[in-house]
Amino acid sequence: GDSSYKRLEFDQQQCWAVRRGKVHAVLDSQNTPICPHLRIATDESSLCVPMTTHGQLIGMMHLLICSEEAKHLKKTKPKEQTQFFETKQRLFESIADRYAMSLTDLRLRETLRVQAIRDPLTGLYNRRHMEVSFQREISRARRHKQFLGVIMIDIDHFNVFNDTYGHEMGDKVLSEIGKFILENIRDEDIACRYGGEEIIIILPGASLQNTERRAEQLRQGIESLAVKMYDEEHTVTASLGVALFPEHGTTIKGVIRAADSAMYRAKEKGRNKVFVAA
Ligand code: GH3
Ligand code: MG
Ligand code: MG
Repeated sequence: GDSSYKRLEFDQQQCWAVRRGKVHAVLDSQNTPICPHLRIATDESSLCVPMTTHGQLIGMMHLLICSEEAKHLKKTKPKEQTQFFETKQRLFESIADRYAMSLTDLRLRETLRVQAIRDPLTGLYNRRHMEVSFQREISRARRHKQFLGVIMIDIDHFNVFNDTYGHEMGDKVLSEIGKFILENIRDEDIACRYGGEEIIIILPGASLQNTERRAEQLRQGIESLAVKMYDEEHTVTASLGVALFPEHGTTIKGVIRAADSAMYRAKEKGRNKVFVAA
């Protein structure tokens, strides 16, 4: 209804229901303490219902019985007032319960969805998701007669790095590289952890020149990443291969193979380089 309640944001400490994990009902603001987040008129009644699932607070639902309705209510007998209020409270509690369950369900679904398509260490897409997206992008590129840039990345001497500093440090580096890549590509680009320390990036609509430029930026970025652990900073380099659909391959396999060969040539020619498919 028409309410004086305009405050949309408040601290958890400012709600009795949230603090105590119990419904806080104010039928009569003269006899019950009002939550500090409320600035209600003295003739208004209110309900704060905590929304919890599995003992975890996920929200709070608030009901305010606004002045007009409250005024009307105040004219009735105290017993009727209490009854009216209790009925509202029961209804409202069951609504809050259902919302809480639905919200938890949605959160869980989102978590599962992310887990199904992302690699947990790097945050990049997993290989299965990449294959599905790649197929879709190839079909789209064919239909619109567009290019598709592909970058294959492999970290240099990562075996030695692991042997020298330990697998845990290696994992940290991989995780930081994943984060760096995600921050430095476009939203529509698809970056995936293809193998252990091999990463593929698909750039829909990118020309060969743009793909190569992006690869060079990533090479420089990876080179200057200083990954910190136990007060020590570590750096790695990577070799990158660039290929273009349909120029260097007309299938997923073909274009990946072309990018892979280019990456191997970068390794042969001294590593920490970008090579374009022949
Ligand atoms: P190159 O420069 O020729 O690529 O040398 P490299 O040692 O990197 O050789 P390669 O790419 O064949 O080696 C992959 C190594 O990456 C093997 C393994 O030790 C390491 N690796 C793969 N996956 C992971 C991972 O999840 N965590 C860590 N820490 N290391 C990994
Ligand atoms: Mg490798
Ligand atoms: Mg390697």
